[in-house]
Amino acid sequence: MTEWVISLGGTKDVQLIIDGKRTDGRTLDELRAIRIEAGVIPEADGSSYIEWGNNKIVCGVYGPRECIPRHGASPYGATLKCRYMMSPFSSLEEHSRSGPSRRSNELSKVIREALENVLLLGKFPNTQIEIYIDVLQADGGTRTASLTAAAVALANAGIPMKDMVAAVAVGKASETLVVDLNKPEDNLGQSDMPIAMSHRDKNLLLVQMDGLLTKEEISKMLDMVEKSCDEIHEVQADALRRIYKTEQKEPFRW
Ligand code: ADP
Repeated sequence: MTEWVISLGGTKDVQLIIDGKRTDGRTLDELRAIRIEAGVIPEADGSSYIEWGNNKIVCGVYGPRECIPRHGASPYGATLKCRYMMSPFSSLEEHSRSGPSRRSNELSKVIREALENVLLLGKFPNTQIEIYIDVLQADGGTRTASLTAAAVALANAGIPMKDMVAAVAVGKASETLVVDLNKPEDNLGQSDMPIAMSHRDKNLLLVQMDGLLTKEEISKMLDMVEKSCDEIHEVQADALRRIYKTEQKEPFRW
């Protein structure tokens, strides 16, 4: 039986890779299955639903519309607002930690700042654009899955963007670099680095990190992220293409 040991020094020595396979059977650079649907909330200007492994997240975009309160309006462009929230049942063993928190404030902020880099907000002075992200089920990587879904919802709302954005976490578990960390890898691995990248320019729009990594490891990880973000972009583009197809579509089912 695998022995689970978490040392007090902050280093987490847990066997997460056995014979090149991860706890969920994936190879080191394999993404979890991703499904994205666009236009799932008829009342919203744009929306999306993402299932990424066991993560389930819904995103609604409203605007550009009147900025409230009005003193928050900018004559230079739209004010982008983002609210990320976990549902009380999103992560069963941790249900008491849902709702507004320092973590949800932080995630709302980093998602907003990443997207501000690509949205052409200057075209809509004195307005606001709101992004609401609700995590229905969480299994590690909700900030990257949320960002990926929000980019699709914004495109679905017709908000002009200079580039599309995809995001994924890379990290180190059992001394091995892995892409798209699941919850055990996120919580018990040695290092975790969520990254958002623009599709065409390959600019880094979000980089966070915990744990310890060398310069060489970070460089390898950025290559892994680039390849993964290209794969994720294909799923995003497919979701958007499908919604604008004219032939009879399968109705969206939750
Ligand atoms: P991310 O979801 O972007 O990986 P964290 O690294 O903070 O963000 O969290 C890893 C995972 O731990 C989450 O996806 C979720 O499954 C769980 N988790 C973290 N914080 C909470 C919380 N407040 N309530 C419920 N689950 C949480």
